[in-house]
Amino acid sequence: MPAASGLPSIYDLSYSDLEAQLSEWGQPRYRAAQIWQGLYHTLAAAPEAISSLPAALRQQLDKAYTFSRLIKVVEARSSDGQTRKYLYNLPDNRQIEAVLMGYEKRRTTCISTQAGCAMGCVFCATGQMGFRRHLTAGEIVEQVIGFARELRAQDDHLTNIVVMGMGEPVHNYDATLAAVDRWNDPRGFNFGARRITISTVGLAPMIERFAAEKRQVNLAVSLHAATDELRTELLPINKRYPLAALFQAVRAYYAGTHRRVTFEWALIQGKNDTPEQAAALARLAGDLPCHVNVIPLNPTDDYAGQAATRERAAAFKAELERRHITCTIRVRRGIDINAGCGQLVAHETQAAPDLNQLLTPPPTDTLPPRH
Ligand code: SAH
Ligand code: SF4
Repeated sequence: MPAASGLPSIYDLSYSDLEAQLSEWGQPRYRAAQIWQGLYHTLAAAPEAISSLPAALRQQLDKAYTFSRLIKVVEARSSDGQTRKYLYNLPDNRQIEAVLMGYEKRRTTCISTQAGCAMGCVFCATGQMGFRRHLTAGEIVEQVIGFARELRAQDDHLTNIVVMGMGEPVHNYDATLAAVDRWNDPRGFNFGARRITISTVGLAPMIERFAAEKRQVNLAVSLHAATDELRTELLPINKRYPLAALFQAVRAYYAGTHRRVTFEWALIQGKNDTPEQAAALARLAGDLPCHVNVIPLNPTDDYAGQAATRERAAAFKAELERRHITCTIRVRRGIDINAGCGQLVAHETQAAPDLNQLLTPPPTDTLPPRH
């Protein structure tokens, strides 16, 4: 297996970190702007590609930092070429996944924030794997830059970032938000907050903290159930932060941003696809502006539940709409591969993966991705 460089990632540095490093090396301040441009504007893949720098500084950068901490070890593509899913090795041999999905003019990347996850949601392949470690800000940033660079080479560009891959982003709050800052930075990547979505299982205090920052970043909450009993059965973290606390935090987010919240709902046949659950959700949401994304459960090795049928999904949607909650049913394409996040890693560490099976080509009746 190819090993990743153990040097610190250049993407771990904030602008002021970079200035401090350059000053330590006796370099003038304006070099920081040149490097920042190189990293986030021209998307240089190595120091030698930042042609504005003197050769000695390029060499110094090369010795001290890596531009590629992530080593791609598996690449899976959907048959129409619109979706790519990469498995990366980290220097400590942990593995993460990142996905790029194309749909009409949208180019959405779905990226990871942790290797594994500590939240233990019963139906999630990443949760079944357990927690390995937090990613650094640089490791999170690099997943996006990698896809941006590929798209640039095809005269194309990223339109959306969804932080919905492996791991729980707000469990790794500081690194995730540092990555958001890096993407947002008008001096560099300049990617609008409104085109970024963070998906969380619902760590209420962290959502409160996020709300207090009043960023225009979108919030998606993996709800999956609207009664505490069922939600705790599916998502153990609900015991610690039950629905009342979660909704208080979500309302704080709405109050601070006036951005509609998305609720994720993996529909499991006979479990959370009932009219009672739809009614409970309507009660919880009240007049909170929200949208529900229903995704038929993606089967995983350690969970026996089945995806709800099309008919059940349609009935659930109708029930929500009757209660004035908008809802989209996603089918297995593009964004739905997120739901399979963790599956490449899971299969890589077990038997030989059948990658084509992990990437289901879009059927003809697909609905547009939400982002
Ligand atoms: N930890 C964050 C983000 C990563 S999980 C969160 O939980 O929101 C991304 C999304 O995939 C979540 O909505 C999660 O509940 C969903 N998901 C996980 N496993 C799934 C599966 N087997 N089928 C459908 N959705 C799944
Ligand atoms: Fe973690 Fe999200 Fe999977 Fe739950 S659904 S185990 S929070 S990655």
